Amino acid sequence: MESPVRRIRLNDPEAPQQPVAAPAPGWLRFAGWFVPPIFLGVTLGTLVLLRRGPDEFFVGVLSITFALPVVWGLISVFFPAYADRRCPECKGLTLDSIADDALYGLSCSACGYVDESATAWKFAEERDAPLEPMVLKSRQSR
Ligand SMILES: [Zn+2]
Repeated sequence: MESPVRRIRLNDPEAPQQPVAAPAPGWLRFAGWFVPPIFLGVTLGTLVLLRRGPDEFFVGVLSITFALPVVWGLISVFFPAYADRRCPECKGLTLDSIADDALYGLSCSACGYVDESATAWKFAEERDAPLEPMVLKSRQSR
């Protein structure tokens, strides 16, 4: 007669694999420092709003909240970012992309510095050429 108790053997226990997080970009590592002051500011603003009521302080905060993205947009439109042409080796303003239709790769015409992995996106944007063929070519080459 077969036993009603069935024995099973489990695998030997293994340590759970810890997920390895990708390193955060440089600016994101410092973004965490702004979270406590923002929360503190929100808390203080809420206390001021509760004590004084919805008066000009609330209107001021609301105006700043809506005006800040508009001001940031205007700054971005009238003062756009330009490609950094300073060579990391010779410090001259002679850096350019490797090819006219390349989205990656920088070279210096003065010292011969070449970095094939650096992004040349800003140089491509400055040429006022359509970017879509360059992106499609970049995708096909990868
Ligand atoms: Zn150089």
